Amino acid sequence: MTPILERWTTDKSTELYGVREWGAGFFGVSEEGALQVTADPGCFENAVSIPEIIAGVQERGLDMPVLLRIENILDTQISLLNESFLTAIGKLDYRGSYLGAYPIKVNQQQQVVEAVTRHGEKYHHGLEAGSKAELIAAMGMCRDTEAVLICNGYKDEEFIDLGLYATQLGFKCVLVIEMPGELPLIIERAKAKGINPILGVRVKLSSQAGGLWAESGGDRSIFGLNSTQIIDVIDRLKEAEMLDCLQLLHYHLGSQIPNIREIRGAVAEASRVYAGLVFEGANMRYIDLGGGLAVDYDGTQTNFMSSRNYSLSEYCIDVVEGVMTVLDEQGVDHPTIVTESGRALVAYYSMLLFNVLDTARFEPDPLPESLPEDTNIHIQHLFEALKTLNLRNIQESFNDGLYYRDEVRQAFSGGKISYRERALGENVFWELVRRINVLIKDLPSLPQELEGIGLALSDIYYCNFSVFQSLPDAWAIGQLFPIMPVHRLNERPVREGILADITCDCDGKIDRFIDSQGVKRTMPLHDLKENEEYYLGAFLVGAYQETLGDLHNLLGDTNIVTLKIRGNGEFDFVSELEGDTVEDILSYVEYDTKYLFTRFRETAENAVRKKLITPVQRREILEAYKNGLQGYTYFER
Ligand SMILES: *Cc1c(COP(=O)(O)O)cnc(C)c1O
Repeated sequence: MTPILERWTTDKSTELYGVREWGAGFFGVSEEGALQVTADPGCFENAVSIPEIIAGVQERGLDMPVLLRIENILDTQISLLNESFLTAIGKLDYRGSYLGAYPIKVNQQQQVVEAVTRHGEKYHHGLEAGSKAELIAAMGMCRDTEAVLICNGYKDEEFIDLGLYATQLGFKCVLVIEMPGELPLIIERAKAKGINPILGVRVKLSSQAGGLWAESGGDRSIFGLNSTQIIDVIDRLKEAEMLDCLQLLHYHLGSQIPNIREIRGAVAEASRVYAGLVFEGANMRYIDLGGGLAVDYDGTQTNFMSSRNYSLSEYCIDVVEGVMTVLDEQGVDHPTIVTESGRALVAYYSMLLFNVLDTARFEPDPLPESLPEDTNIHIQHLFEALKTLNLRNIQESFNDGLYYRDEVRQAFSGGKISYRERALGENVFWELVRRINVLIKDLPSLPQELEGIGLALSDIYYCNFSVFQSLPDAWAIGQLFPIMPVHRLNERPVREGILADITCDCDGKIDRFIDSQGVKRTMPLHDLKENEEYYLGAFLVGAYQETLGDLHNLLGDTNIVTLKIRGNGEFDFVSELEGDTVEDILSYVEYDTKYLFTRFRETAENAVRKKLITPVQRREILEAYKNGLQGYTYFER
């Protein structure tokens, strides 16, 4: 065991929470024990302290939980992606270029799409829309006619017409055919309007990827055309004298592809299809790989689903090289490579900051040296197991403990012992478990039966947020996010705990955490101090979490603050968005809050009539109700 008196350092916190591994250079720990964030990876001279940001947010009157966005991290990510592709293209003498298209569905907030179009302009970074609403957002936000505007998703007439108008306005707007049925309508609308569209086809590859979102690829994927259907598209376009409109090949293997081998396999297969389309006479210019570029959430650099076994530059080199190898062999010109990376662009940009409201501990009460002689025999056996516990009989003592605890429970059910005696029995059992948990730290390997002991004894930290609203993927698909305290990192975290949110739903918890060895069931935390808030952060939450979140228990959007880090370690508040009020949330579920208030006023008036309250008390109660309607949906101090 590590001697408890050994001095704790901020380096130890950095290591314990894996900050260097998952932080991608954006996060570090200051000498004062504060978590810092920088927009300049690996360079902490200009870093900003997260506890200072929290203080600034609170001085401005916004309560926790807060979703914090760092605008220049997004800028950095856009630059990194584009520069990495440009570097790979230069290094390999690739004769085509690269264009990114940000998929709006990954984070649809106006601020995000605006930032992508603004900062992405110098790279002509475009947008990808998967629905009419997203296309309408994209057409409003995008000004850059050098950028691509990719239209995926099932398209009706209105969707197609909008895409055609975008083409007419000079945008490189690509209508991607996802389903065989879309083509006749596209041809009809294009002819009717006399507009030459840019068309793409989405191919179903036989390459399939692992990870949580694997279903997007493969023969059974919902979207995309198989080889027969693509040949049919070519014939129909030829017939309509529109084959020169077909310029883009698209595929999407799924999001968060952890294994580079699967990415390489798909690129090779798609490049062959691309060459095939060129030979069929299509006017091919773009190969679009969709999304899939993964984020290393756990920092392990492995092909585990919350990680990735490649770097950004490896990804770019492998993609460019993969396309080149096949097309050179076939004697086909190099196309513009398009990717629709969303997750990798926006994940780092947001973090959720929240305070801890309370904790629960599962610690047995202190036991006496010996038990009275008339104590129930099963409790005496439990006590005996406790007294004789040592390193060599852990397993046996644990089994005895379980057996006699059941006997105690049965004795209670059978009316043989009192509730107080049963409580004593349970307490002896938990003391046994606690001591076993201390002893097993010295074992070289843990017997399987004892694996859950740490979790069973861990604390619960009740946190001011909703998993369903703010970290929906943690609940829905078991995704891991890095979570850690944002201050006191110069103190040893002496507790182990899981996190519970404030929804009172048994699923509203986080009990799976990143770990260098896989998944951990508890995380190290500090003791709460009296009259001092304890703040935690969940990181890399910029992708998918914001709009997938729901209104479980009517907890609404959190406050959102956007910052820009300035040169000298200072920061500017770029914008503050107040989270939903109770009134907002109720109106989302179709309440008429004026009617609600009127009804409640009648209830109060009836109470006055019945003399349960005075008219003055009525006023006070109605005021509280009104304030409640206008308040934040989260716990307010
Ligand atoms: C979801 C999606 C993306 C984004 O994928 P990421 O893995 O987040 O980069 C890109 N393209 C299409 C067609 C998608 O459906």
